[in-house]
Amino acid sequence: MNSQPLLEIKDLQVWFPVRRGVFSRTSGWIRAVDGVTLDLYAGETLGLVGESGCGKTTLGRAIVGLEKVQGGDIRFQGQSWMDLPAAELRRQRPHLQMIFQNPHHSLNPRLTVQEIITEGLCAHRRISATERETEALRLLADVGMNADALYRFPHEFSGGQRQRISIARALAVHPELVVCDEAVSALDVSIRAQILNLLLDLRTRHGLAYLFISHDLSVVRYIAHRVAVMYLGKIVEIGVASEVLKQPRHPYTRLLRQSILEPGRPRKTGIVQLGEVPSPSQPPNGCLFHPRCPYAIAQCRIEPPQLLPAPGTPAHRTACHRQNEWEEKGESRSIPLT
Ligand code: SF4
Repeated sequence: MNSQPLLEIKDLQVWFPVRRGVFSRTSGWIRAVDGVTLDLYAGETLGLVGESGCGKTTLGRAIVGLEKVQGGDIRFQGQSWMDLPAAELRRQRPHLQMIFQNPHHSLNPRLTVQEIITEGLCAHRRISATERETEALRLLADVGMNADALYRFPHEFSGGQRQRISIARALAVHPELVVCDEAVSALDVSIRAQILNLLLDLRTRHGLAYLFISHDLSVVRYIAHRVAVMYLGKIVEIGVASEVLKQPRHPYTRLLRQSILEPGRPRKTGIVQLGEVPSPSQPPNGCLFHPRCPYAIAQCRIEPPQLLPAPGTPAHRTACHRQNEWEEKGESRSIPLT
């Protein structure tokens, strides 16, 4: 893997104003993404997991320029995008593309498949009708679809085929990084496996990097090299996928892992039992997870934990005051509840 990250996110903040009253005055802020720092390497898949509303989609949208950023830095191939002139930023944007969750809503029903998948291409350079058709046919073949799809409309296709069209649209401008936002969540289980295998195949053939956003840890375990766990706008654990998902250190990741359905193992309901996620407009003091954490101690209510490496595994970092106790005592069951 290249030592220079393809994408570097530093202390990124995406806040939304809470407006009240007849004059719509700003009375507070929803901190959807609050101080996120991440690296992503060429050819790598970074899984981004967490419950609904934790800020993972907002982070993905901010990376591709669909959300306004309040603070922090986004660097692509070593160059900061925050101070780039608008024209240069437009030239750089095609390097980063996004595949959306629901292919039923993300494709324009009035456009043919050819128009949809070459729309981005035409926006960035002039191309002839012949070249447009040739490119569209190449992209369709790339995602495993027949040439007869070219002049048909989205409603004529199944959910899996529509997601293939969405992927072809993202690939049209030769991106280096694709943000996949719950890209298989809306699909049937059998189709889900086909799309995941297609994404893996495209990653190998085109050297793509993915930021793979999902609430489903079993899907992330299948496709990701590394995993970042997000809670209330912050990363609480990050590391190699097999380590984080097999031996999670943060109590929140442990609870997320319990929600994976495995054959012969009943689903546990830890997260549901621990109550509601606090509002991102009024986040708790100290560790953001402390109102739901069965292991919280007095320090957790006052002092925010830093994302720190575990002893002996520098790439596995966790934001928990008690992470070293898990290491010393083994299973979390042996740590006294408070
Ligand atoms: Fe729980 Fe405290 Fe760790 Fe937060 S810092 S996850 S409250 S033990």
